[in-house]
Amino acid sequence: MQGLTETLWPIRYKPFDDELLSCWLVRLAHGHGLKVQTFCNLLFGNRLQVWNRDIDRLAPAWLLRELIARTGTPRARAEGTTLRVFEGVLYPQFKESGNLLWVLAAQVYHRQRMGNAQQFCARCLAEDEIPYFRKTWRVALKTVCLRHQCMLWDRCPKCEVGVAFHRMDMGRPYVPENGALAACFRCGFNLATAPAQPIQILEQPAFDLLADSVSSLDAVSVDPSASFPSDRVVVLRHLVRLMLSARRTVELRGFVADRLGVEDLAIGQGKRLAIESLPTATRHVLLQFGAWVLVNPEARLRQAWKSRAIRYNHLLREFDAAPAWYTGIAEQFSEWRDRLA
Ligand SMILES: [Zn+2]
Ligand SMILES: [Zn+2]
Repeated sequence: MQGLTETLWPIRYKPFDDELLSCWLVRLAHGHGLKVQTFCNLLFGNRLQVWNRDIDRLAPAWLLRELIARTGTPRARAEGTTLRVFEGVLYPQFKESGNLLWVLAAQVYHRQRMGNAQQFCARCLAEDEIPYFRKTWRVALKTVCLRHQCMLWDRCPKCEVGVAFHRMDMGRPYVPENGALAACFRCGFNLATAPAQPIQILEQPAFDLLADSVSSLDAVSVDPSASFPSDRVVVLRHLVRLMLSARRTVELRGFVADRLGVEDLAIGQGKRLAIESLPTATRHVLLQFGAWVLVNPEARLRQAWKSRAIRYNHLLREFDAAPAWYTGIAEQFSEWRDRLA
């Protein structure tokens, strides 16, 4: 404990590729033989609470400053552990509260994380020498691990509780061994041994389009200069939003399900349903529905429009960031043409 007051800590782990800030912090605590809460209290006192907020999203400057100074980690590398790296990629501008596009909502309630915002690939965890959690596992766009060709999990397969690795040492008399982060905090199940579920592919071209976007996400998460198909992904989210719309005049989801010959999803048409708070399995289907439209957007949106599954005004409503190619397609279905049709 003495060592914690020194400029550099005795343990100076650096973040792994794509590692999340919270995971890095927990590893540092355990590396020092301390519980997460004890470690954070020693560093920041009771004044600055670490775990009652989504630090991966908020990236508090005081926290990063401390980690950079005490571990000798280059600033860019430390800052690269937060979900802010997706600013200008997945969402136009960072904001502290409210829904952040494509970032799974952690819904922190007194240090407890409700929901299933922390996905994981069991095989990635199993392969890691030291299991750790990735930034991309917090992104709603990603439902699969391309490296292992399997679905991501969004909860413990045994007790079905969401992942909260920062809580695993709470209420336990011992400090977990380094490398124990893959254990479910609630029931202790080793998440790395969760069975690999095969990817459900509704239609190959649609899945390929989605997989290509996920692959770009993986690249940009470790190298911010990598290219990312922002135009396509912003339209994909708008299409998914339409498919979650509570308006009875929007039947795009049913339309696509019908075309793909699959059953429509049974999701309550809640008013504020956003893809960022849906379980992985549901998102996986919705994203493929949206990707199916994007494989041939002009023809498929026209079919949907002709079938009255969508109206012109829905296509552009609350969609300021619409790219020109998409607006061009939507304009073909404007009201006056609608009347002539
Ligand atoms: Zn994997
Ligand atoms: Zn469990």
